[in-house]
Amino acid sequence: MILYKIASDLTNDLSTKYEHGTNIGFVPTMGALHNGHLALVAGSKARHHITVVSIFINPTQFNDPGDLARYPVTLEKDIEALEKAGCDILFLPSVAGIYPGGILELPQFPLGRLETVFDGPMRPGHFQGVCQVMDRLLAIVKPGILFLGQKDYQQCLVIKKLISWRGLPIAVDIIPTIREVSGLAMSSRNQRLTPEGKEKASALYRALLYLENQLKPGDLSIYTANACNMLESAGFSKIDYVAIANADTLEPVTNWDGKTKLIALAAAFLDGVRLIDNLLLA
Ligand code: AMP
Repeated sequence: MILYKIASDLTNDLSTKYEHGTNIGFVPTMGALHNGHLALVAGSKARHHITVVSIFINPTQFNDPGDLARYPVTLEKDIEALEKAGCDILFLPSVAGIYPGGILELPQFPLGRLETVFDGPMRPGHFQGVCQVMDRLLAIVKPGILFLGQKDYQQCLVIKKLISWRGLPIAVDIIPTIREVSGLAMSSRNQRLTPEGKEKASALYRALLYLENQLKPGDLSIYTANACNMLESAGFSKIDYVAIANADTLEPVTNWDGKTKLIALAAAFLDGVRLIDNLLLA
């Protein structure tokens, strides 16, 4: 595995590879890698000649400075895991390398309605930050395929919107969520939970399964209310949302016509850690 810290070095190396017609699979991450990230790497390895992984904790997507300060860093372990997974290139940029003009006057992106639902209002500025970093990373790496995790479903739609707004020739492959045996979606933030906390946190997935099992045409609000109660009983302290939405647009759906493709989404705090999860329903 080759490690690059300087964006222009990586771009120059990759440009010789584009000339040879080699396709590039790109897996952007913030590190503290787990099997969810490695499933994205495996997806890329299965289909591409060259897999590029980036590890960059993007300050502009953290609406809570405490969350940024506490974000886990496990670089040595990450490098080992990527070597084992067969990653070809690791990109480890600095903040100044990604944002040479500083972070105060970065572009804003026209995300429309997508930014006004779920994590949009709950994490003001978060999706603009995601677009700011992805805009830079995609310009540096110029991948043929981008690998993203379904766990961050709204983020997938936001990045797809960025790609289409920029008119970039990049395909997006969304990899299903990798879970612990308990059902808890793997996440770097899980490292901040105790073993008991992790057990309790699996209620998030059970609440989504409950919504899947109850699903029938008509009013859905009683089911989302019950799912909230399940989370409260399990020890979640603050529930940002438990909702069902149109899987293509993320418009909330409270009365189902029996046909629209749906997704159940939840975000809630356990022991001060914000966890999110989702499940495609129909
Ligand atoms: P992060 O490092 O949290 O920014 O995540 C980097 C990429 O890994 C994103 O595309 C995430 O959606 C994806 N990812 C995170 N957790 C999982 C998981 N449990 N299963 C599959 N993909 C994941």
